[in-house]
Amino acid sequence: MLNIGCHLSVSKGFLAMAKEAVSIDANTFQFFTRNPRGSKAKDIDESDINKFLEFAKEHNFVKVLAHAPYTLNPCSKDEKTREFALETMADDLKRMEYIPGNMYNFHPGSHTGQGSEEGIKQIAFALNSILTEDIHTTVLLETMAGKGTEVGRNFNEICSIIDSVNLNEKLGVCLDTCHVHDGGYDIVNDIDGVLDEFDKIIGLERLCAIHLNDSMNVCGSHKDRHQKIGEGEIGLEAIEKIINNPRLKGIPFYLETPNDIEGYKREIALLKSIYKE
Ligand code: FE
Ligand code: FE
Ligand code: ZN
Repeated sequence: MLNIGCHLSVSKGFLAMAKEAVSIDANTFQFFTRNPRGSKAKDIDESDINKFLEFAKEHNFVKVLAHAPYTLNPCSKDEKTREFALETMADDLKRMEYIPGNMYNFHPGSHTGQGSEEGIKQIAFALNSILTEDIHTTVLLETMAGKGTEVGRNFNEICSIIDSVNLNEKLGVCLDTCHVHDGGYDIVNDIDGVLDEFDKIIGLERLCAIHLNDSMNVCGSHKDRHQKIGEGEIGLEAIEKIINNPRLKGIPFYLETPNDIEGYKREIALLKSIYKE
């Protein structure tokens, strides 16, 4: 069974997202915890959440993926920006306790000139401040394309962050296919070599989610422009090998391709048609 979903708008609530997912033949979804500007999150609607939990169980959903606002930067050189990121993430994790056992993904950040070593220290500081024993959410670091001063642009940087966090049993990794491709990992010609490297440096047991995107740019471009499945530089043949890779079996895939809901529905149908049970 291919576990797949796409990014959906949180504005209509959790039950509405789950129903929308089912309508496009998905068994999970991703959503932003608040609007990308990082402003105040909506009040928790417990009745909506309870209905969602029941619906998701009935329809055999796998873990859903919450995404932190991408504007947060826990390793900015500006202290206020770092504090804001830390407070927002702490609040998000508190809210995630209403749907325990799911995942929360964030972009490690951009070091804004301080250097990646300092950036890694600041990201680890943030995680050490917000992770507590009573959190029932797996927090995922997303692999980045290495645009500008992004941290997490290779497996070594992700590993350094994880190694600097005390409660790192709460951490996992979300591999974004567009980002690692743009970051210089040749997932088109050597997906097994890339997974070997991931396993050697981070450990495949940390790989909890995959953002499945094609890329508008060539391998190593450090650009981060997502493309529709099969219409970019990664291409359908490589994507077919990725979703069928035995080491990725069972890991949920989340589409973040430039699509409306009908486009997502078509992509999910396409991916299911080339998936080998
Ligand atoms: Fe992301
Ligand atoms: Fe992504
Ligand atoms: Zn991206």
